[in-house]
Amino acid sequence: MKGKAQVKQEGSGGIDGQKEESHPMNCSFGWEKLVEMKNNKIQFLAGDGYKRLRIVEADEKTRSIHMICELGKITWPLRFDKLQEVHHKVHAGVVTLIPYEMDRLIPTWGNFITGLLRYLGCDKH
Ligand SMILES: [Zn+2]
Repeated sequence: MKGKAQVKQEGSGGIDGQKEESHPMNCSFGWEKLVEMKNNKIQFLAGDGYKRLRIVEADEKTRSIHMICELGKITWPLRFDKLQEVHHKVHAGVVTLIPYEMDRLIPTWGNFITGLLRYLGCDKH
């Protein structure tokens, strides 16, 4: 590996640095992105299409996130590596990005993860 230049640009939304060579992705999934969503209080819709969610906590040490719904309920921590695993399966076509399928991978998280990954553009291959 060479030239590990990390340029941080706000706004342009460009994708730099492909990590997954076997599965080219057009989405913006990544830990940095989740932190950015938390910092900017970005809202997105859950998998059901009407519940609004956002990330309230992104812990660098444990690499886990908490989401909050519009009713003010904060979720359990969701580990990033677990999310990454699901993310990989979605792109590999092993699972479909719908709450039911996601729920089978991470129980009770189906609706949240589906919403998050859709927001990040993971349903567009
Ligand atoms: Zn993705």
